[in-house]
Amino acid sequence: MFPGKFRSWTWLAILLCSLGAIGFAARFFMTVHAQKAQPLPEGDGPWVVRAYYDDPRMLDLVVSWTEPWEVVGRERSDRDRAYIVVEVRRAGYERLLEAGFEVEVDVRLTDALNRPNVRLQAQDAGIPGYPCYRTVEETLAAMAAIAAAHPELSTWIDAGDSWEKTTPGGGAGYDLMVLRLTNAATPGPKPRLFVASALHAREYAPAELAARFAEYLVEQYGADADVTWLLDYHEIHLLLQANPDGRKQAETGLSWRKNTNENYCSPVSNYRGADLNRNFEFQWGCCGGSSADPCSLTYRGPSPASEPETQAIQFYVRSLFPDQRADSLDAAAPLTTTGVFVDLHSYGELVLWPWGFDTAPPPNGTALQTLGRKLAYFGAYWPQQAAWLYRTEGTSDTFVYGDLGVAAYTIELGTTFFQECSVFENTILPDNLPTLLYAAKVVRTPYVTPSGPDTLDVTVAPTRGTAGESLLLTARLDDTRYSNQNGGEPVQEIAAAECYLDVPPWLAAATTIAQPMLPTDGRFDEPVEKVQATLDTSDVPAGRHIAFVRGQDTAGSWGALSAAFFYVLDPVLLEAETIAQTVRAGTSVTYTLTITNAGRVTDTFSLTLEGNRWAAAIPAAVGPLGAGAGVAFGVTVDVPSDALAGEQDRLTVTATSTSDTDRSASIVLETSVRKYHWFLPLAVRLAPL
Ligand SMILES: [Zn+2]
Repeated sequence: MFPGKFRSWTWLAILLCSLGAIGFAARFFMTVHAQKAQPLPEGDGPWVVRAYYDDPRMLDLVVSWTEPWEVVGRERSDRDRAYIVVEVRRAGYERLLEAGFEVEVDVRLTDALNRPNVRLQAQDAGIPGYPCYRTVEETLAAMAAIAAAHPELSTWIDAGDSWEKTTPGGGAGYDLMVLRLTNAATPGPKPRLFVASALHAREYAPAELAARFAEYLVEQYGADADVTWLLDYHEIHLLLQANPDGRKQAETGLSWRKNTNENYCSPVSNYRGADLNRNFEFQWGCCGGSSADPCSLTYRGPSPASEPETQAIQFYVRSLFPDQRADSLDAAAPLTTTGVFVDLHSYGELVLWPWGFDTAPPPNGTALQTLGRKLAYFGAYWPQQAAWLYRTEGTSDTFVYGDLGVAAYTIELGTTFFQECSVFENTILPDNLPTLLYAAKVVRTPYVTPSGPDTLDVTVAPTRGTAGESLLLTARLDDTRYSNQNGGEPVQEIAAAECYLDVPPWLAAATTIAQPMLPTDGRFDEPVEKVQATLDTSDVPAGRHIAFVRGQDTAGSWGALSAAFFYVLDPVLLEAETIAQTVRAGTSVTYTLTITNAGRVTDTFSLTLEGNRWAAAIPAAVGPLGAGAGVAFGVTVDVPSDALAGEQDRLTVTATSTSDTDRSASIVLETSVRKYHWFLPLAVRLAPL
């Protein structure tokens, strides 16, 4: 009975499908009669298609039920028509046709879609087939290891739970972990950068970029002057795996975007879950930029911030940043607003800022645009307000700006979801580390600083100078570093430059310790200028110092700081009673030297000889010597018995601090063989006669 029943249902299904297809075909010919007939592929998909269109308003219809992977303008299109790349199943395909799109399956992307990832030969870590991208577990372990190894610089914070973790009976789920980087020894309050990544599961590059950023900061602290002051005076918070449940699905090769909430669509469907980047509560579901269909890729969830991941991020962000914007949509945040939020996604090589739900600019639109064009500069990304790409709502950036007034961005990295590792290593990483560093630099006043010139190539020469020596500080100021791909950012000439030693401008006392810097060519009259100043080290204590440099343009804007380390060394004095002696061949001669530690800390000095041909002896080291203390020591030179009269040998004695090898002093000693004096033996011979 059962097989027969099955068979009859099968026939009925085929009949219904045929009726559906006939009905569809009729609609198709009625609505898109102007275009050539396009064969509808068989089955239910999914397919990745190119959907060509001429009227930009057609995009509005699409983004109410899904999100295009990519929007390609006419100028970049292969056939002089704009198109979207979008993942659809049968119903979506039909919807595109009904809306008037010319639809074409992208065979390459469709083949790749949901193809299981295969581990490379000898690959023992990372996402199968993509060894440069750490898995969720590997990402969390690496960041936890940073926190364990550098407790003075980092904290590992549990910011909430994934959906599976909150749900009994399912997968174990994950904690949403944040790595906070800042030097705990420097007092706050400090302005903050918050970076979220992998909110969309299938976007591989973002979490790895954030992890590499963390590793770069920790490795360069104390070595790179900019990284050092960033961690001393700012805080950087990284939520690397914002959607770990979904990411585990995407690691297998599934094109998974949403979280894995089984209450939406069907508990076993690969289309289940809520789109976390449509689930934030600000303007949630307002404007046709998200879907109410639980199986849609842009399903907004049943209510604002319904998902635990969204709740955790909202709570964390509100705990990081004060509310700096009034509730009215047209209320601007003040110029004193602090904080930058960056949500890393892929793909599209875009820098986007709020609003997403409205093409009208937000009240801080001009300032958001200025920083957006700056962030887009480094990787030559395309800067634009999010809604100009297509309508979105309930997104993280619009929430952070809308709710708190904080400067908020979405950066779409790279050119595909499962980006090849060579592209990540050679392009995405080098393009975007400077972007994140710049964002970290301007968190104090993100609506002010980005309009000022960048400071580049700060150098101090020599890097290490003895106290009292004058050092030359140079830098380049550049007011032109914006992406001008989408409109042009105003550029001014450089008007002033200044440097601060050891104390950044915001901590400088009213009696500023700033030192003006002058243009190297004698005139401030260009948007790019080299500047210089002489640093007098007479009153600078010994040790490592940092020179902060900033520039101002003719519009009055001071730009972001850059810094360089330099070192002031206490002198070491090396003196000798005599530096030249003349003796007979076959004898030894001793020089008495005195070393004085003219520094302010106790030190031990190693002693070395060089340049000598004749054997010589010296103590290996002297000390420890207290500050200002001196001690005598001997250098013995053995003159060979076969040395010729008048022959000389020179040697250089060098004393080097064992705590700082750049602290040293040298002295040259010259030993000569006495010429033979005939008169003495003659006198002896004559005397007895
Ligand atoms: Zn995304």
